[in-house]
Amino acid sequence: MKTKLILTLFLITSQTWAEFSAGAAKVNITPQQWPLQMIGSFHERLATKAHDPLHARAIVCDDGKTRLAIVIVDNCLIGRNYIDAAKAIIAKKTKIRADRVLVAATHTHTAPPGKDRPTNRTDKAHKAYFKRLVNGIAEAVIVAEKNLMPAEMAHGVALVPEEIFNRRWHMKEGGIAVNPFGDPNDTVRMNPPRNLIERPAGPTDPEVHFVSLRGVDGRPIALLANYSLHYVGGVPTDGVSADYFAVFAGLIEKALGKDKGFVAMMSNGTSGDINNISFRVPRGRQKPLERMNDVATLVAERVLEAHKKVKFQGDITVAMEQRLLTLKNRQPTAKQITYAKKALAIEDPKTLPRLAVAYANRTLTLTNGPREEEIVLQALRIGEVGITSIPCEVLCEIGLSLKANSPLAQSTFTIELANGHNGYLPTPRQHALGGYETWMGTCTLEILASEKIKKALLEMLEKVAVSD
Ligand SMILES: [Zn+2]
Repeated sequence: MKTKLILTLFLITSQTWAEFSAGAAKVNITPQQWPLQMIGSFHERLATKAHDPLHARAIVCDDGKTRLAIVIVDNCLIGRNYIDAAKAIIAKKTKIRADRVLVAATHTHTAPPGKDRPTNRTDKAHKAYFKRLVNGIAEAVIVAEKNLMPAEMAHGVALVPEEIFNRRWHMKEGGIAVNPFGDPNDTVRMNPPRNLIERPAGPTDPEVHFVSLRGVDGRPIALLANYSLHYVGGVPTDGVSADYFAVFAGLIEKALGKDKGFVAMMSNGTSGDINNISFRVPRGRQKPLERMNDVATLVAERVLEAHKKVKFQGDITVAMEQRLLTLKNRQPTAKQITYAKKALAIEDPKTLPRLAVAYANRTLTLTNGPREEEIVLQALRIGEVGITSIPCEVLCEIGLSLKANSPLAQSTFTIELANGHNGYLPTPRQHALGGYETWMGTCTLEILASEKIKKALLEMLEKVAVSD
C-alpha cells in the first residue's frame, strides 16, 4: 500500500514536471550586402559593414496545452509586414500558431532598416537583408522548438537605477525652443541644454525583470531580461551594431551558459522617454563603445547577483492572448497643414525652426495616409510572470501603470516595439505637455491611444492570469 502511494506520488510529480518544456536558439541575421541605410537618426547614415553581429534570439515554451514563442531581434524597429511574413513561416513549419508568437526589436539605433522606405524597396542590398531578417526570425523559432526539453523556470528582478534618465524636461525661462510646427508652446523639451533644465517630466523604471529557463536536469536553456532603456550607443556610425543589448546577452551567456545552446536576450521595456544621458551630473568623455560596455556590465552583474537567489519551479502554466485593436491616426489641423506646405516651399529652410522640413513631410504623410491603424497587442503568461507587448516606443509611465495594475502582481513587464511599429506612445498627460515624443509624425496614434491600449492589455492579463 505504502509503495503504491509513493509510486503514485512519484508519477504525479514527474508527470507535472514533464509537462512544461522550453527551448531556445539564436540565428545570425547580420547583413551580407552593403551599403545599407541605418535608421534611428534624422540624417542619412550609410552602414558599410557590421561592427558586431546581429541576431534573432528565440525562446519557445510549452505547458502541454499552449505553445508560444518570443523572439528578440537586433534591429531598431521592424515593420509588421516583415514580422507577419516570419510568423507565416513559423505557423507553417512549427506547431506554434501565428498569434502565439511575439517578435520584438531591441531598438539598437545602429541597425539596418526594419521598415520599407521608397528608397530601399527595390535596392538589392536592402531586399537581401529583409529576406535574411524574415527567414532568420522564423529559423530561430524553428530551431528553438526542436530544442524543447522538459524544463523549469524562475523569475527575478534586479534594480539598476543608475543608468536611466527621463529625457523629457521642464525648463527654466528661455529653455523651450519653437517646435518644428512653428509653435512656441511646448512645455517640455527632449535632451535639452543642461544649463536650463528644471525637473524631469516623467519617471524612470529601475526594474530589470528576467525569466530564467533551465532543463529539469539543470542545464541552462535561456534567460530573457527586460529593462526600460532606449539604447546606449557610442558605436562608430559606419557599421551596424546590436548595442548594449547584445553585450549584456554575451556576458550572461558566458556566466551561465556553460553548455552550448544557452541563449540570453535583453528585451526593451517602456523606454520611449528614457535614455542613458546623465543630465544633472555630466560624465567625462568616453571612448567609443565604452559606455555600452559599462551599462551592459553593470546590468549583467546585477542580474547575475539576483539570479543566485531565484527558485526554479517545474509546474508552470503558459497562456497567451492576442487582440487586434483599431485606433485612429492623428490628423493635422488646417493650421499645421498650411505651415507644412509653407515650410516645404520656402527657399531657405535654415530660417525655419529645427527639423521643420522633416516634420512638414510627416504632417502631410499623415494627412494623406490611412485614417485608422490596426495594431497587435499581446498578453502572455509564463508561470507567475505576465508579459504585455505594444508595437510602439512606449513612454515609461505606461509600463509602470501596467505593472501596478496587473493581476500578476510583482512580476509583469512590457516588451515594446513588438509585432510592428506605430511611433511613440505618450499618455494624454504627456500629450498636453508637448515635446518631441508627442509631435505629429513622431507620434501617429490618437491622443487616447495609450488609455485604450492599457485597458485592453489589462483585460487580456486578467484572462491569462486565471488560465490553468
Ligand atoms: Zn529610438
